[in-house]
Amino acid sequence: MKPTVAVFSFTGCEGCSLAILECENELLDVLNLVQLVRWREAMTETAQEFDIALVDGSISTHHDVKKVKQIRELCKLLVPIGACAHNAGLNALKNRYGMGQVKETVYGDAGAQFDTIPACPVSAVVPIDFALPGCPIDRGEFVRTVRDLCLGKTPRLPTYPICVECKKKENVCVFFQGKFCMGPVTRAGCGAICPTYGDGCEGCRGFVDDPNQNAHKETLAEYGLTAREVMQHFDMFNSYDDRLP
Ligand code: SF4
Ligand code: SF4
Ligand code: SF4
Repeated sequence: MKPTVAVFSFTGCEGCSLAILECENELLDVLNLVQLVRWREAMTETAQEFDIALVDGSISTHHDVKKVKQIRELCKLLVPIGACAHNAGLNALKNRYGMGQVKETVYGDAGAQFDTIPACPVSAVVPIDFALPGCPIDRGEFVRTVRDLCLGKTPRLPTYPICVECKKKENVCVFFQGKFCMGPVTRAGCGAICPTYGDGCEGCRGFVDDPNQNAHKETLAEYGLTAREVMQHFDMFNSYDDRLP
C-alpha cells in the first residue's frame, strides 16, 4: 500500500505547495509512489489520517501553533517545505518589531483583533523529520526527497555552496559585475538559478553547513572577502533568532 500524503499551508504565499503542482513532468512519478489524501489547493477530500505531512509557511499565530501540533500527532513523518517553514524565511523580519506595532502597521485601528505572534519555523514548535529549504523549493529536490522518504532512506541536502553549482554552469560571477552575492556561504541545490539569470544569490536556502569552513574560499579570496563578511548580509531570508520571545 502506498504511503498517504497530506499537504498543509501556514503563513506564506503557498508558493512551495504550488511548486509541487508545477512538477508537471514528475508529478505522475510522485503519484506512483504516494497517495495524496488531503490538500486544500488541489482536492476536496480532508482525510484525518496520513503518513507524511508536507507543510509550507511559518508558524505565526496561536491558531497555527495548535494546528501544527495536531498535524504532528496525526502523521508519521512531518516535513516542512520551503524557507518560511524551514527557518521562518521572510516572515521572521516582522519579529524585529513589537506585535502591536506590526498589527497596527498592517491593519490600522482594526489590528487589535488579529491573532499574530513572532514568526517561527515549524521545528520551533514540534519535532520534524526533514526540511526542504528554498523560496520556493526546488522541484527536483522535492521529488528526490519524497522518493527517499518512501524508500525509508534519509534524504540529503548538498553540503557545498551555490558557487560550486554556479562555476559548473560557467556563469560570469556577479561580483565581477559589481553586484553582491551570498552564493559562497549558501547551501547549494537550486542550480544557482539567480546568478544564472544575472542576479546575486539572496541566500533563500540558508547557510551551507559550517559556512566558515565550507564557503567557496576561491571566490571570496578573488574579491577580498571573508565568509563572515558575506554572512552579515544574510538578513532577508535568515533573520530568525530563536533567542527572541
Ligand atoms: S518559502 Fe517562499 S515560495 Fe515558499 S511559501 Fe514561503 S514565501 Fe512562498
Ligand atoms: S559569488 Fe555568486 S555569482 Fe559568483 S560564483 Fe558564487 S554563486 Fe556564482
Ligand atoms: S541562487 Fe540563492 S536566492 Fe536564488 S534560489 Fe538559489 S539559494 Fe535562493
